[in-house]
Amino acid sequence: MEHPENDPRYNGLKVNKGIAQPPSVNPYLKKRVRSNAYTVAEYVEGILAGDRVILSQAVTLVESSLPEHQETAQAIIEQCLPHSGNAVRVGITGVPGAGKSTSIDVFGMHLLKKGHKLAVLAIDPSSERSGGSILGDKTRMEKLSMENNAFIRPSPSAGSLGGVARKTRESIVLCEAAGFDYLFVETVGVGQSETAVHSMVDFFLLIQIAGAGDELQGIKRGIMEMADGIVINKADGDNIDKAKMAQRQLRNALHLYPLPESGWTPEVLTYSGYYNLGIAEVWDMIHRYIDFVKQNGFFDLRRREQAKYWMFESINEQLRNGFYRDPEIAGLLTTLEEEVLSSRKSSFVAAREALERYYRRG
Ligand code: GDP
Repeated sequence: MEHPENDPRYNGLKVNKGIAQPPSVNPYLKKRVRSNAYTVAEYVEGILAGDRVILSQAVTLVESSLPEHQETAQAIIEQCLPHSGNAVRVGITGVPGAGKSTSIDVFGMHLLKKGHKLAVLAIDPSSERSGGSILGDKTRMEKLSMENNAFIRPSPSAGSLGGVARKTRESIVLCEAAGFDYLFVETVGVGQSETAVHSMVDFFLLIQIAGAGDELQGIKRGIMEMADGIVINKADGDNIDKAKMAQRQLRNALHLYPLPESGWTPEVLTYSGYYNLGIAEVWDMIHRYIDFVKQNGFFDLRRREQAKYWMFESINEQLRNGFYRDPEIAGLLTTLEEEVLSSRKSSFVAAREALERYYRRG
């Protein structure tokens, strides 16, 4: 464009012709299609060799909902399965602020110092709403995130809780095949996700804090029955007495429960993640539990039950996905939804109609 300022009337003023604004994104940058990055054999080889970059990319495939990614992911998982199962899997839950990230950082460092390799995964039910996940975030575990022997992965964020949990469970297989011999699965102690985590770990640890007046909250939500150990964090400074009192209360409360199937009476300990106090004792407890259930056969029983549980969960998920992702059914559901909303059809009749259409077409 000619600039009017260059008109001879405006003597002494000259504006040079500008250049086009460069794009803010490099046009030569090609988006990497991850499923094509490696063959299944290369993924498996990389994982078995402990390559964290390849492991991370394989986990991304597991988390993807694209059918071609899923196909590759399932092939990788299948080949990794024979190399998995050897880790100690620990579920960690606690309300926000209980000190999960602080504790995972110190628990993790405790294990790494003993020569172990740790993977931290997460199931975050809130991530579906917020579109992002906080749990398992590297920035929350400052020391661990600097370590080569730690692999930290935030929660998969898309899909139903069942879907998210299934992905985490499959990622466990990959991490174990990559040589991680300890696995943490973290979740927020506020809802259904505990059940999902409980169904994929060997030891379920509930982190509580004293003095918040909610020591017994776990009872209401049925989380205490699931816990193999309850630990009261922040037992430091002025808080020690309160923590000890909470410990007594929880021990008394646990007496009211019948002995769990494992035959193990859940223990209640106090510790301080921040000041690194009582950490070894927490791990002593976990290891005593593992020894105990390995001896009485419950360890294997629990894993077998979990495998069965996940088979049915996978079937449910695939049935659900097949149904809801079917374009014809999606269209029909829109119509049925309107009919139900305007009371022209009952929910049951509408549901039957949709299912019949789906199955009749085969
Ligand atoms: P999360 O939400 O469960 O992951 O909890 P965080 O690990 O982020 O901890 C929440 C807050 O509690 C942070 O300000 C921590 O510094 C603090 N905190 C964590 N552990 C301890 C502890 O052992 N003692 C004390 N005094 N504070 C702690």
